[in-house]
Amino acid sequence: MIVVLLGPPGVGKGTQAAALAGQEDGWTHLSTGDLLRAEVEAGSELGRAARRYMDAGDLVPDEVMVGMVADRISRTGPDQVLLLDGFPRTPAQAEALAAAAPGGSIRLALYFSASDPVLEARLMGRGRSDDTREVIQRRLEVYRETTAPLIAWYRDQGILREVDAERSIEAIQEDVAGTIRSVLQEA
Ligand code: AMP
Repeated sequence: MIVVLLGPPGVGKGTQAAALAGQEDGWTHLSTGDLLRAEVEAGSELGRAARRYMDAGDLVPDEVMVGMVADRISRTGPDQVLLLDGFPRTPAQAEALAAAAPGGSIRLALYFSASDPVLEARLMGRGRSDDTREVIQRRLEVYRETTAPLIAWYRDQGILREVDAERSIEAIQEDVAGTIRSVLQEA
């Protein structure tokens, strides 16, 4: 099963996905931001091309992103849980995900929500190189314009669940794990 984690930058999707993948057998965390940061770190051609978008808070082009994850997505087995963190971020990526995913495997989209002041405080506390005030503003803007429409897209498909992400990490984790387990059992 593929679980799409939606929500603004700083909402804690990555923290939750990493914790759940560490705790549950067969659950995997796939973060496109982490993949890109590894490419930047390695100094690869892709990393060099991606870096200027990331440093500006803009999105890396869709074809690059789809090329990075399509194969991994297509290999998701029925007993696995693939936690997709940071992908899709545009309608074109959502279409590409639907095309690459095994039939019927996208059964849950979790929308992590928190207020802007909470997000900004979390982002400023993180200290990543793209976590400066200006870049944060740009990333929130890109999120609202380009990524947020995916919430309605998944709601229309009847697979969206909202998660109140202002609670403690533990409370959110328990809630999310329970939701994923219940959707797994419905299969
Ligand atoms: P994240 O770690 O998810 O916040 O991603 C960090 C940065 O990587 C973003 O601000 C984008 O520049 C880039 N990025 C990550 N995932 C994607 C994606 N699915 N589409 C386009 N750009 C992405």
